[in-house]
Amino acid sequence: MADYAAFYQRSLQEPDAFWREQAERIEWAAPPTQICDTSRPPFASWFADGSTNLCHNAVDRHLAERAEQPALIWVSSETDQERIVSYAELDREVQRMAAIFRQFGVGQGDRVLIYLPMIPEAAFAMLACARIGAIHCVVFGGFASGSLATRIDDAQPKLIVSADAGSRGGKVIPYKPLLDGALAQAQHPPAHVLLVDRGLAPMEKAQGRDHDYTDLRGQHIDADVPCTWLPATHPSYVLYTSGTTGKPKGVQRDTGGYAVALAASMRHIFDAQPGDTFFCASDIGWVVGHSYILYAPLLAGLSTVIYEGLPIQPDAGVWWRLVERHRVNIMFTSPTAIRILKKHDPAHLKASDLSSLRTLFLAGEPLDEPTSTWVADSLGVPVTDNYWQTETGWPILTIARGVAPQPGKPGSPGVPMYGYRVGLYDDASGEPIQEPGRKGVLGIEGPLPPGCLQTVWGDDERFVSTYWKSIPGRMVYSTFDWGVRDVDGYYFILGRTDDVLNVAGHRLGSREIEEVITGHPAVAEAAVVGVADAEKGQVAVAFVVPRGAGPLEDEAEKAAVGQAILARVAGELGAVAKPARVVFVPVLPKTRSGKLLRRAIQAVCEGRDPGDLSTMEDAGALEWVRRG
Ligand code: AMP
Repeated sequence: MADYAAFYQRSLQEPDAFWREQAERIEWAAPPTQICDTSRPPFASWFADGSTNLCHNAVDRHLAERAEQPALIWVSSETDQERIVSYAELDREVQRMAAIFRQFGVGQGDRVLIYLPMIPEAAFAMLACARIGAIHCVVFGGFASGSLATRIDDAQPKLIVSADAGSRGGKVIPYKPLLDGALAQAQHPPAHVLLVDRGLAPMEKAQGRDHDYTDLRGQHIDADVPCTWLPATHPSYVLYTSGTTGKPKGVQRDTGGYAVALAASMRHIFDAQPGDTFFCASDIGWVVGHSYILYAPLLAGLSTVIYEGLPIQPDAGVWWRLVERHRVNIMFTSPTAIRILKKHDPAHLKASDLSSLRTLFLAGEPLDEPTSTWVADSLGVPVTDNYWQTETGWPILTIARGVAPQPGKPGSPGVPMYGYRVGLYDDASGEPIQEPGRKGVLGIEGPLPPGCLQTVWGDDERFVSTYWKSIPGRMVYSTFDWGVRDVDGYYFILGRTDDVLNVAGHRLGSREIEEVITGHPAVAEAAVVGVADAEKGQVAVAFVVPRGAGPLEDEAEKAAVGQAILARVAGELGAVAKPARVVFVPVLPKTRSGKLLRRAIQAVCEGRDPGDLSTMEDAGALEWVRRG
């Protein structure tokens, strides 16, 4: 068996040689001679003088050998549809989409915002952007008008691609009214909107602005749009994620480094072979979907499943029937999905032939041991936890199954992946922590490996000050996660150091939700914290101080305001951000300098010790939280 430790060490000690070899996994119009330019730390430019194209590597490159192989296997348990798109068909569809984009004047460097449910057109649109060097900004379909408007204004897209509706649990969710709401709020609405009509909900079309995809596709049926060769450092996409402030950050990714990182991860981490079938049950609106529903499986010549629906609709056997039917080899989902399945009859698992399945990967939130053991025993395949972030684009900690399938440890996502100089740092002094078992902030020394964020879209300053200056005294990338390392070098993740919530693997910012709640006229102040939940990992709980003289006494009034707050969050941000509970309190715990003590609130909610409260302004404030 190969030795992972040696493989890892080589990636750090001879990074140029290591990544030069990995770069051979993709095709280049001009192969890079320069591997990593670190002349302007903490910025890193990978393969800077190379030129390539993500769409070429994901689609065109495979046409010679696998034109008839399924590239996309689209399954919707919501609309009971299935569509298999071969590499040859994908190539045609992407060129048609690219021709439509061109018609609207979209060119290299222009942004295209994609607000779509899980349908094949989402993949066509993303790949069409990559083909012509446009930058895609995919917004998760579960987000509503307010979230969408913020992202439109930050990205300033030339075109938006959307649809009449999505569907969740059999319920049609019209997208167009949410999009219209966002366009009305936005300062920088684009001139054109391209709409996929699924026939699920009626759509009002704005004359001159809104265009029908089917019509235009018909006009460009024979489109011939060659790939544009792009510098490796050309941005491929911007994906928004939550942080400490109310304003989401646009994580900007490059082209060449991302392609190399994903192709390498398919080999070394996922142990995938060309021709395999990969089923990643995430959403294209999240980073897991960008990397492991779309780009990585296609770059590596696999068939990728695009699944629209819940894991338990029409019943909890739906995924396993899909595995049997399409001979899925590798699966990837979140611990929450498995916890949901675990509540259902295990007979669902036994009813399908799962012999094609080799491994299950889980990511996005901490994986608890009972969930991991249950699913490993039920499926009879190894379960591999992997830890990473929107910012990194591919796993930081896991087991490199394709290098050496070393055993995992319960509760640990694994060991640092090749290219990542992972360490733990004292949050007060910034000193690296050497001794096993001592908690610290998980940091990564620069340069970050290929595939990680280049910068924050349009805000280099924010990139540096947010990520590289929060560990005192040293320029090290902060993950904003607490971690601990054991004697064998395995890491354990202990939660966020900042005010980011993780609900069912979805990352949400406390501040974003608080800002929407305080926009309600009956609310003076709000604090939103993530509280441990057996199914979703965490749920959001909102503590709200009503405006006016005293606390809300009347139960009916409280219930009405509480409902109005929830509706406001759902309408502005989306149902995904809706707190599980709203608790009214007369005062919030704060420091004397006015800083909200969210961590103390969270500790009280979870029955833990709130820690040092000597800086708290009003000693009674936590008592209200306790009573709530
Ligand atoms: P996102 O950027 O939405 O992918 O969220 C990234 C955050 O999710 C990380 O910073 C962690 O807090 C958490 N996370 C992701 N994967 C794991 C994992 N395998 N174990 C523990 N936490 C995780």
